[in-house]
Amino acid sequence: MMGDRDFRATIQSALSSIGKELQLDIDPKNIQTIHLQEVVQCLRRSYFDRIDPVEIERRGFNELLSGLLRKLEYGSEPKEFEIDDIKLQGQTDMIVDDAIMLFRSTQTELENPLANDVLYLNACLWIYDKTEGIVVYITGDRKETTFSLTRNKKMFEEVIRRVRVLNNLLKEEKAPILEPSTECSECQYYERCFIKRKNSKHVDIGEMLGLGKFGHQD
Ligand code: SF4
Repeated sequence: MMGDRDFRATIQSALSSIGKELQLDIDPKNIQTIHLQEVVQCLRRSYFDRIDPVEIERRGFNELLSGLLRKLEYGSEPKEFEIDDIKLQGQTDMIVDDAIMLFRSTQTELENPLANDVLYLNACLWIYDKTEGIVVYITGDRKETTFSLTRNKKMFEEVIRRVRVLNNLLKEEKAPILEPSTECSECQYYERCFIKRKNSKHVDIGEMLGLGKFGHQD
């Protein structure tokens, strides 16, 4: 009987299998090769992904867009950039007419590109030695917004700095400090960094600040 079957679990497991198939190929033991994705996101998250990973819960096919494009015939090959004895490996989604292209899905139309996408795109421009790049955001209802970027050295230097920091911390087996951001609410390591999501104790901020019960006036 249809009602007896757990379709949610089936869909979740299908998403998880496709996600694994499309995810970036990162060898957790090879700490001398750092992937670009690892340094444009929270370093602590990238560290846990290598040392003590927890599988991410995928919510839909949208977030698989970039991985899917990389696997198709238009997808570009990964490329490495040497930083002393460390290799920074990047992979763009496509290269069209000498321009680097990234595709990302979003819930709503964006007014500005997301910071980690800008860092990723800019670093790809240096890794592939190109001058122009484009990031295309596509919403669930198929609206697209495009932003273009010319390469910026300072921004790439920041990525190189983060590559060195992650490499050092992996060598020393020390977890990076918290990088609180909007990424945290979707992060599978939230409870390691902050508090348990369920059964958390209610805290009255008004009381903590000595202002009496918040929202109550006697
Ligand atoms: S919860 Fe936030 S700070 Fe902690 S690993 Fe995830 S993204 Fe980083």
